[in-house]
Amino acid sequence: MPVKNDIRTLSIDELVQAFEKLQEPKFRAKQVYEWLWAKSARSFDEMTNLSKPLRTKLAEEFVLQPVKEHIVQKSKDGTVKLGMELADNRLVEGVMIPDDDRNTACVSSQVGCSLSCSFCATGFLKRERNLEAGEIYDQVVLLNKYALEHNGRPLTNIVYMGMGEPLLNYSNVMQSIRLITSPEGLNMAQKRITVSTSGIAKGIKRLADEEMKFNLALSLHAATDEKRDRIMDINLSNNLETVFEALNYFHEKTGNKVTFEYILFDGFNDSIEDARHLIELYNKVPAFINVIEYNTVEGVPYKKAKADKRDTFVNFLRNRGVNVAVRRSRGKDIDAACGQLANKENS
Ligand code: SAH
Ligand code: SF4
Repeated sequence: MPVKNDIRTLSIDELVQAFEKLQEPKFRAKQVYEWLWAKSARSFDEMTNLSKPLRTKLAEEFVLQPVKEHIVQKSKDGTVKLGMELADNRLVEGVMIPDDDRNTACVSSQVGCSLSCSFCATGFLKRERNLEAGEIYDQVVLLNKYALEHNGRPLTNIVYMGMGEPLLNYSNVMQSIRLITSPEGLNMAQKRITVSTSGIAKGIKRLADEEMKFNLALSLHAATDEKRDRIMDINLSNNLETVFEALNYFHEKTGNKVTFEYILFDGFNDSIEDARHLIELYNKVPAFINVIEYNTVEGVPYKKAKADKRDTFVNFLRNRGVNVAVRRSRGKDIDAACGQLANKENS
């Protein structure tokens, strides 16, 4: 039996062509496309404005494989962590983080990650596969339900900060952003989306050429090559000079500032000397800095910086005019913080 095509890997044009072959009119293809994306149908049977024979025909030709909710964990602070099951039974995680004025979805881009940063729970899993655009899209749809449930408002922001390195699943991540932002999809504004990368210089340059308007965050975490090499293997092949050259290209092409994410680790990168190195980098490209509280991961020797060290570090930056914010961890009681997603059933 021939393997059936996953209908959601088809563009609207490809779907129209497929419908021509089935001797179905173009407007039917458009209806189906609307069911697939804007209405997030989970089966052909839900497509009630299609005739029953057509629904049967579609089910014979194609598969529709939505991501399913697997485990829901709710934190005291309103954060929801969702374990989701893919069609091949693999699991990924996503998080919905409510705030006063926003609801943010944190989505995964790969099952596991190939980069094994020494502080990251996902890095302990091997990369099993890239997610399809539809699988990323579904995470947003499922998390949106919890945003609505929590405070009656839909998602306002999406961050690609779950499991995996988005720029190593480049095409599918871009396709997911196109779907999420298109009027035929969820119609969200590009500027509400942030893609976080560990620093894949080639990918950053490619992004710069896309003429997209979403935000880019760099997981910096150490401000010299010597230190970054110790915690992020990616720095061995994409050192700070290479990454910053790419960031400057990104800024030139898009006009966007870049966000630096900087986890403060106790005794590793939290000294005044470290802050000085960070300012040197900050002066190389227009940027904001997010100082991030580390979420302890079992088996990792790094700990989060002490509160007084953190305050001294942040004040040192602020007093020198650096645009810096401190990000506290959310959903601690359920291990829901970004970068802490390593589905225990998978590991
Ligand atoms: N692979 C991409 C995106 C996913 S990781 C990247 O590395 O940017 C999302 C963010 O969470 C990154 O900044 C990552 O460094 C950070 N992170 C990883 N583990 C963490 C932890 N235990 N506590 C806090 N942040 C963590
Ligand atoms: Fe992968 Fe990002 Fe975790 Fe590094 S920090 S292991 S790149 S998910």
